[in-house]
Amino acid sequence: MLLHLLFGNGGEFCLLGEVYAAQHEEGQYEKKNKITRPDAKSGSCALESFAQDADGVFVELKCADGPMAVSCNNLIGADGARSAVRRGLGIGAVTTYVTLQDYVELDGEIEPFFDCVYMRGIGDEFAYAYVVPKGDRVAIGSVFYPKTKRPYEKQEQVISLLREAMPQLGRSTKREAAAALYIRASADTVPGLGRVLLAGEAGGFMSPTSGEGISYALETGFQAGLAVAENAPDTALAAYRTATKDLHRDIRRRLRWLPVMESPVGKYVAGMVPPSLVDRVTQGL
Ligand SMILES: Cc1cc2nc3c(=O)[nH]c(=O)nc-3n(C[C@H](O)[C@H](O)[C@H](O)COP(=O)(O)OP(=O)(O)OC[C@H]3O[C@@H](n4cnc5c(N)ncnc54)[C@H](O)[C@@H]3O)c2cc1C
Repeated sequence: MLLHLLFGNGGEFCLLGEVYAAQHEEGQYEKKNKITRPDAKSGSCALESFAQDADGVFVELKCADGPMAVSCNNLIGADGARSAVRRGLGIGAVTTYVTLQDYVELDGEIEPFFDCVYMRGIGDEFAYAYVVPKGDRVAIGSVFYPKTKRPYEKQEQVISLLREAMPQLGRSTKREAAAALYIRASADTVPGLGRVLLAGEAGGFMSPTSGEGISYALETGFQAGLAVAENAPDTALAAYRTATKDLHRDIRRRLRWLPVMESPVGKYVAGMVPPSLVDRVTQGL
């Protein structure tokens, strides 16, 4: 995804990470709330540090052409699973899964599997894999629990096992690694602190059962933009907290299912019953 960095020009709000809603609705809220249109700069700025007090947030950035300091009324941290903004707030430290994704040549056609391909024999550090056809290639991804040792070897094992089941899978041409949020408790979802709002994975908004987070990122990005546009700087977080209550509840519901899905019994049962039944039971997870 693209990195956008928006910041208040003379200081309405700063957004670190990606912009969904704020960009979409910008014109409307400019008019309604007389928000100064933020200068949009994309590319090579990263957060160095920030501090907040009763008057606002002071952000220090490291940009391609040198350091930059920005003052604003609110900061929106939308900077992903390893959010520096969240770390800076010192709230709810979260850890991450290791994910590896290979692009594998495809000779023929395969079914478009996505959901949790679980395989016994890879070991307890393996969570699940997925196979997604992309034209003449296939993305094969694996999700490993935090602190997995030698995940690259395990990914080779996953691909070999999948090749046995799907001989259409050929040579791997590219491999990518990424971090994915590891949520285990309701307290891992934190909308922010003071004048700082956390959106998407930075705030712990994602499905702990499926690992999907795009819809959460879109919704919370939208709500965070709305909250700073429609409220006084010191009440924006309260409004955002209220607006994201249902998402938080949804994450709590999924967390209740997680121990079942991850238990040896749960995996055994899921492996024994027909996939159509597994699909039905896990719909909405
Ligand atoms: C391999 C993989 C497959 C996935 N598949 C799916 C899927 O099929 N469906 C689904 O719904 N979800 C999926 N997800 C999850 C989904 O990608 C994330 O939940 C979603 O992208 C989170 O959006 P976000 O905006 O919170 O964070 P991100 O998309 O991670 O964006 C954060 C942005 O912040 C920037 N940033 C980070 N640190 C700083 C800093 N210090 N200063 C400035 N900028 C910074 C980053 O460069 C990045 O652009 C997948 C995740 C992975 C890893």
